[in-house]
Amino acid sequence: MNSRRGFLRDLAAAAAQVGSAAREATAEPVAPASFPLSDAELDRYGRQLALPEWGLAQQAALREARVLVVGTGALGSPVALYLAGAGVGRLGILDDDAVELSNLHRQLLHFTPDVGVPKAESAAAKLRFLNPDIVVEAYRMRVDETNAPGLIEGQDLVIDCSDTFATRYAVNQACCDAGVDLIEGGAVGWAGLVMTIVPKRTACYRCAFPTAPEGSLTCSQAGIAGPVAGVIGSLQALEALKLLAGLPGPLTDAFLQIDLAAGDFLRVTVSRRADCPDCADA
Ligand SMILES: [Zn+2]
Repeated sequence: MNSRRGFLRDLAAAAAQVGSAAREATAEPVAPASFPLSDAELDRYGRQLALPEWGLAQQAALREARVLVVGTGALGSPVALYLAGAGVGRLGILDDDAVELSNLHRQLLHFTPDVGVPKAESAAAKLRFLNPDIVVEAYRMRVDETNAPGLIEGQDLVIDCSDTFATRYAVNQACCDAGVDLIEGGAVGWAGLVMTIVPKRTACYRCAFPTAPEGSLTCSQAGIAGPVAGVIGSLQALEALKLLAGLPGPLTDAFLQIDLAAGDFLRVTVSRRADCPDCADA
């Protein structure tokens, strides 16, 4: 353990020296000023820093990131847990519901003593326990088309974990207008869907789904297996880490349709629509 920490400290020092030399040579900042990580950060994030694709620059990018998670229920719970754990520096969480007993089989941030507590507060408390080094901002409100632009302004990334098509379309439009990257997700029954959107460059949610499907059922009507939400939310979190760290392979110009009853993962290719009301060029 100690030799590993020493290695990571040496790596941090070397990277800071390289960054300093590069700044002198180019007069351009190559990394945030507070780039070197503390001993505790090297320990906390050591297993992801050990990934060949993940280094100090990726960790520093996460620490500088501002991410909004819309909804702290079935999908928002794993998303927020993984992003807080990974070290996203500023995490906004947003929900206007209170915790109910029927939530607890799938909404991992909330426990039995939390029943009746606003979900945003319940979630924020757990996330601050998980990672006291990050800033968690909790908002007790529901996103709609009137407040979405203001909430999304200034974010680096939005992850939509809401449970209605009206919210999904409002978030999609606001992200397209503001040029903020978006990760969509949905889950019901034994199935779900994940899609990553880089506005004006890749297909948006409305490009893929121009209108809400008629007769779609909610989780209270159709039911949902708890781990299904965990799978979809975990995939959203993974997509978020890829985008924030600048790693290749985000799930863009496509959505992943996942049937967990059969164990099928189907990647469906989609393209930007020239007449998309949300993302078409003016
Ligand atoms: Zn579009």
